[in-house]
Amino acid sequence: MKLLEERIQKDGVVKAEGVLKVDSFLNHQIDIKLLDEMGAEFKRLFADAPINKILTIEASGIGIACIAAQHFGVPVVFAKKAQSINLDGEMYCTRIQSFTHGKVFDVIVSKKFIGPDDHVLIIDDFLANGCALNGLIEIVEAAGATVEGIGIAVEKGFQPGGKSLRERGYRLESLAIVDRMDPMTGKITFRPQGGD
Ligand code: 5GP
Repeated sequence: MKLLEERIQKDGVVKAEGVLKVDSFLNHQIDIKLLDEMGAEFKRLFADAPINKILTIEASGIGIACIAAQHFGVPVVFAKKAQSINLDGEMYCTRIQSFTHGKVFDVIVSKKFIGPDDHVLIIDDFLANGCALNGLIEIVEAAGATVEGIGIAVEKGFQPGGKSLRERGYRLESLAIVDRMDPMTGKITFRPQGGD
């Protein structure tokens, strides 16, 4: 998506260790007009899929998912990061290794909000190694629901998550794929994609 790529070029900051900061428009201050365009693009990309729910993970996926959800006319469920898991059988639980913080944390989704009739689009801001998405996929599959697709704002193509998810057959659409980025020069190279 050209608009997002241009914004990343303009305002993204390349940090060490393969981290891209997009705090000024996506992760701290949020450009709602841009998110609205991104939501419309997700709708265009998944127009043929019978999506009735969007699943994301707190915190930074929520804004993107909510605005996308307006284009789909469906509710959003977000996986919550839990301090301690109450194993009372009311929750789906999984463990996720955080890319940005290096820690492992538990995430939960109430069984009330996802079930076998659901056709789910999973949305997140970044895709790096795929740990966050693997956790969300595990929850959808544990619920007996269907993963209709995965929508990502920024995929870092030089990290393995995207390749592995595509090889496993998931329908993964990333609005921007960064193939290379150099923390010394700040240069960011995007993978050419159709549809722009
Ligand atoms: P993964 O689980 O795929 O390794 O990492 C994805 C998660 O880590 C996303 O939910 C995102 O919040 C965070 N993340 C991974 N890489 C980056 C990055 O380069 N920049 C930012 N801002 N977040 C990232």
